[in-house]
Amino acid sequence: MDHIKKIEHLGIAVKDINAANKLYEKLLGVPPYKQEAVESEAVITSFFKVGESKIELLASTKEDGPIGKFIAKKGEGIHHIAFDVEDIHKELTRLEAEGFQLINKEPKQGADNKLVAFIHPKSTNGVLVELCQERN
Ligand code: ZN
Repeated sequence: MDHIKKIEHLGIAVKDINAANKLYEKLLGVPPYKQEAVESEAVITSFFKVGESKIELLASTKEDGPIGKFIAKKGEGIHHIAFDVEDIHKELTRLEAEGFQLINKEPKQGADNKLVAFIHPKSTNGVLVELCQERN
């Protein structure tokens, strides 16, 4: 059974994407390999490779966007864990049947060429979980 393949990335909410890019470049020793805006989520993201996982920095483009609200409430920090899955539709069906509360019943277009869907932290011990599947 390989429902979930690996931790694809950790999402970190930051206030200032340029300052955070510099800081994480210093920390990780590599520059981000990609920066990308996701209009629907009102975020700018940048991605760093760390072995076979990634770090995703997320900054809000609007105060009332999801990341803006998160930072206002909790401050900067880890925002979500993303798991790589083979078949996101199948996983959503499975996890809903297991009693997890889905934020997205249907996957949507995410950053980094992925289909993504989120699971509510209420049903995962306070951790926002993202499922993602590489688009072919
Ligand atoms: Zn993510």
